[in-house]
Amino acid sequence: MMLTCREAIARMSAFLDRELGPLDVARITLHLSTCAPCRAYLRTLRATIRIAGRPADVEMPEEMKRRLRAFLSGRTGEPPR
Ligand SMILES: [Zn+2]
Repeated sequence: MMLTCREAIARMSAFLDRELGPLDVARITLHLSTCAPCRAYLRTLRATIRIAGRPADVEMPEEMKRRLRAFLSGRTGEPPR
């Protein structure tokens, strides 16, 4: 049930892009709470993305991300958080 570091890192960019379902988000959040190296990795990744300036982040407003997230959580049958 617990993610390994390898699995957590493989999902990290999707996690930052809000592309994961609530279950994966919960798993990664749990892993990050117990794993300092992965927290450091996430910080680095986040900083890199901010510096690189991803078009997706500019073009997709928060409102759309919220709707997408709601849509995705509906699809996976997870209750809204
Ligand atoms: Zn880890």
